[in-house]
Amino acid sequence: MERWCRPLYRVPIDPGWSCPHRERGLPGGCTFCAEDGGRARQTLGVETLQDQMHCGIHFVRERYGSGLLELYIQAYTATYASVRALRELVEPLLEAGNFVSLSLGTRPDCLPPATLKLLQEWNQGIEVWVELGVQTARDRTLESINRRHRWADSQQAIARLSDAGLKCCAHLLFGLPGETADHMFETLDLVTHTRTNALKLHNLHVLKSSVMGEAWTLHPFPVLSEADWLELVMQLLRRPPATLPIFRVFTDSDPENRLAPPSVYSKGRFLHELAASMQSRGWYQGELCT
Ligand code: SF4
Repeated sequence: MERWCRPLYRVPIDPGWSCPHRERGLPGGCTFCAEDGGRARQTLGVETLQDQMHCGIHFVRERYGSGLLELYIQAYTATYASVRALRELVEPLLEAGNFVSLSLGTRPDCLPPATLKLLQEWNQGIEVWVELGVQTARDRTLESINRRHRWADSQQAIARLSDAGLKCCAHLLFGLPGETADHMFETLDLVTHTRTNALKLHNLHVLKSSVMGEAWTLHPFPVLSEADWLELVMQLLRRPPATLPIFRVFTDSDPENRLAPPSVYSKGRFLHELAASMQSRGWYQGELCT
């Protein structure tokens, strides 16, 4: 809001590409990832890219009215395509949609030099963000969730994006099996000491269409409830500097496809309770920042 002086809304586009991690002959990719790779609900069942864009813009206008628009190439790994395919996808949409920024979701090991160069070229005319799936800084957890990259790869990717003048939003996933609160605090502290420009904090949702969901169905393991997450996220928010934008503080998932936690708050209730509880305790972002 402060950056643009007006609200900025995302228009998600799913080009139908895959993810390098799912195509390496490894069953299921990351264990927490749903079959659809995180596709936005607005794009489900809408096949052409122009239709997805119009549908996304219509959704924003119906729900929020006016505001600026960001083109968001999401689902699976957006940079897992040739430079030519990426150009052919993005440029017509940018021309047609009156966007002020462009965002692409990817993994730390999927940023080849030619792709970075293309993003730098676009960054001359429009603000370009890369949404980077970091998840955790703990290598043992990365291995257990089958990420097939290490924390060092995330550090390198953030540094390369920063060197290229591109903006990075690091996605973190909390409540992963085997992680304690101290592990999660450590991840947050390590990531805030990189050159990332923003964070997204997600809590684990176990989804039916995921490898983790299959395991949970056979042997249910504890998953942070919504109340647990609210408590934890308040503690997490005290640590990063107040100047670091936090774009998201909870996970959104299709209730039909969610195994755990059993119930979640609405976005409005979650944000209201978060703000009210932090205020009543006198807590604020950056309070514990070192
Ligand atoms: S989380 Fe990302 S990298 Fe992992 S399997 Fe899903 S789309 Fe691929």
